[in-house]
Amino acid sequence: MARGVGDLPPEELRRLAHEVSDWIADYLGSVGDLPVFPDVRPGDVRSRIPGHPPESGEEMEAALADFRNLVVPGVTHWNHPSFFGYFATTGSGPGILGEMLSAAMNLNAMVWRSSPAATELEEVVMDWLRQLVGLPEGFDGVINDTASHSTLYALAAAREVAYPEVHAGGLFGLPRGRVYASEHAHSSVEKAVMALGFGREGYRAIPSDDAFRMRLDALDAALKEDEAAGIRPVAVVATLGTTSVTSLDPVKEIVPLAAAHGAWVHVDAAYGGPAAIVPELRPMFAGWEGADSIVINPHKWIFTPTDCSALYCRRPEELVRAFSLVPEYLRTAEQGQVKNLMDYGVALGRRFRALKLWFVLRWFGRAGLVANIREHVRLAKQLASWAEATEGWSVAAPVTLGLVCLRHAPAGMADEEADELNQRILDGVNASGTAFLSHTKLGGRLVLRVAIGNLKTMESHVAALWSLLQDAARAATEA
Ligand SMILES: *Cc1c(COP(=O)(O)O)cnc(C)c1O
Repeated sequence: MARGVGDLPPEELRRLAHEVSDWIADYLGSVGDLPVFPDVRPGDVRSRIPGHPPESGEEMEAALADFRNLVVPGVTHWNHPSFFGYFATTGSGPGILGEMLSAAMNLNAMVWRSSPAATELEEVVMDWLRQLVGLPEGFDGVINDTASHSTLYALAAAREVAYPEVHAGGLFGLPRGRVYASEHAHSSVEKAVMALGFGREGYRAIPSDDAFRMRLDALDAALKEDEAAGIRPVAVVATLGTTSVTSLDPVKEIVPLAAAHGAWVHVDAAYGGPAAIVPELRPMFAGWEGADSIVINPHKWIFTPTDCSALYCRRPEELVRAFSLVPEYLRTAEQGQVKNLMDYGVALGRRFRALKLWFVLRWFGRAGLVANIREHVRLAKQLASWAEATEGWSVAAPVTLGLVCLRHAPAGMADEEADELNQRILDGVNASGTAFLSHTKLGGRLVLRVAIGNLKTMESHVAALWSLLQDAARAATEA
């Protein structure tokens, strides 16, 4: 068969798939030897790839060679043991196998009938994960691509509850509404509020205390003030594991306070939620079972390849009310007896994400998940203790989960000067290619973030990072 006329013939696919499998195994075995951040300038990669599609089909060998030679040297390696940027993530072997098989079947779990096993496996793994993190029965889970969408959907359900009229007539002419979250909440919350038609004034950031947790007195005051002004409290978002510092809002107290004002409680545990699998860390989540909805990202700290975000709702019918709109061609005989995943969000199409998560949960088991997450938290505390014991270094936020916020400021140095120094340290570490960090601002000051949570990260990598940081600090001070 001529190239490009039909699909890859099965025997050729078999040969190439073996080659790709070998590449994957070699890559994962040696990714630690590659630079974490590529040595590229904006536009470099693009300039090496033709700007127009090929007229006639090419050999897959050519595409695979370009993948190795042009793409791989231009990516940031998130699966590198010294990738400490942003937040915990690992694309683990079991999860990769699940992705491969899911791509092969290319099924679409939009309704039960469009793939019964995909829908039912999603129900099973969501219930497994619920049990693993210790949430009570009755929380019903669905898988979305990202926490950003999970939060958008949860707040859409909250909007339906706060404004029953919205279903038919939209928000037009109705009293203004607001969503409350800590000043350290993820930007996806405010984006969801904008997308839901509340405008940026529909979002109110609540100040936090000295451990970066939402202040209850400030939340209480904001709710009362807004109610007196005729603004409807739609939802309060509590974050358990903020992205910048992994602080945990006092959800146990937030739940009754929000309830007293008729507001929905959404818990954003996208990053931190997996830690609830570890018995000694679970107390940090006490009270989250009182929330109306909770998001947890297996693609962050449950070793599942991106994308996989779990949204739990206590009353799934409220989520369905916000999104159910069944066109004739999708009406099925099973309506009412089965879950049709398209009713739980905006997207009709649904990838088979449950498969990779199922593989991950089976490979690790509860014990494996506990051991790995526990070790990441231990490594974070270890790094923090080294920094605390070293002149000129400080730990800028309590180490609750796997994240360490560090700052270097030699005695007597002005804050602005120290900001520039930390920026140079960050640039120095990232330019080295041996480790990758990101940063945040706390109280206006620049802070280096070390997110520990990759399966390949061992104590030796954390120790090497600590040496690298000290070397970079010396070089930056002399510069
Ligand atoms: C990462 C993160 C998000 C966003 O996650 P996506 O899945 O990338 O949308 C939301 N909230 C918190 C607390 C996060 O850490």
